[in-house]
Amino acid sequence: MNIKKIAVLTSGGDAPGMNATIRSVVRTAITEGMEVVGVIRGYNGLIHGDLRPMHVRSVSGIINLGGTLLYTARSPEFATEEGMQKAIKTCHDNNIDGVVVIGGDGSFRGARDLSARGIPCVGIPGTIDNDISSSDYTIGFDTALNTAVEMVDRLRDTAQSHDRCSVVEVMGRRAGYLALRTAIAVGATHVLVPEIGYDIDEVCQQINEGHAIGKQHFIIIVAEGIGGVEQIAKDIQERTGIESRATILGHVQRGGRPSARDRVNATRMGYHAVKLLSAGIGNRVVVMKNSKVIDYDIQEALAMHKPFENDLYDMVMQISV
Ligand code: ADP
Repeated sequence: MNIKKIAVLTSGGDAPGMNATIRSVVRTAITEGMEVVGVIRGYNGLIHGDLRPMHVRSVSGIINLGGTLLYTARSPEFATEEGMQKAIKTCHDNNIDGVVVIGGDGSFRGARDLSARGIPCVGIPGTIDNDISSSDYTIGFDTALNTAVEMVDRLRDTAQSHDRCSVVEVMGRRAGYLALRTAIAVGATHVLVPEIGYDIDEVCQQINEGHAIGKQHFIIIVAEGIGGVEQIAKDIQERTGIESRATILGHVQRGGRPSARDRVNATRMGYHAVKLLSAGIGNRVVVMKNSKVIDYDIQEALAMHKPFENDLYDMVMQISV
């Protein structure tokens, strides 16, 4: 298939580095001789024909910005056959031959369905949660991790000054990847992730054991998928007698300047995605495997299972003495 014009959209939760991805997609496409349009608010924009022509200068000065200049949304309508047909009509009416979708596994399901109906799509993993089964890395994860670490470092200062226990919830949706890496980087006493679960008695026992050998402040990292940090802090205080405070970091983790790593990988993945479409290849998802950018069939990618990093979890537990 000869692809002359492509669309690019961001879908699902936003992530720092999405703008760097859009920039790479737009500039690669134009320099490959293709036209590009930006779709506003994810699949909703495709349903309603909300498109913006993109030029090389449309993406000037955005590589360093968080968020997404195309806006993002969740679109329940797109998951219906009617919504999908409207999106296909928009593509036909505007001579769009291919679509680059920056988002998570949900967005890739939409891209798979659109590809199956004759519009070749390529997915790029963009989410701070790193919860995409087929890829070692997702755009935005590195920035969110650095932000979470900086915030917990600040909490450590005050926990240390008051001999307190700081119980901190970090994002990650149903996955514990962000919590685990944050826990390693801040030197946490304990990390609570949904993949493994926890026993409050064990958490308190570990705090008590640490206290007995001179540890005076404690940081407990809790994944969003576990939640309930207020109650966890209360339980710890009641059972150990150590004053405990809960903090939910929340959406600060989604914003901010993308890290160098996110910008570099965003640029690599955007470039790779457009090269596929330029060669007439769709129904693929671009991923990072062992530091290499490669691509998989979308359905195969969705069926993959990413094992949790149990070795890293064991390391945290062993050295938090
Ligand atoms: P993420 O892409 O971050 O996983 P969501 O799961 O919210 O985020 O998915 C984003 C959008 O992708 C949804 O709002 C919907 O428009 C589309 N989508 C999700 N699942 C499907 C599906 N099974 N079929 C078609 N489209 C889907």
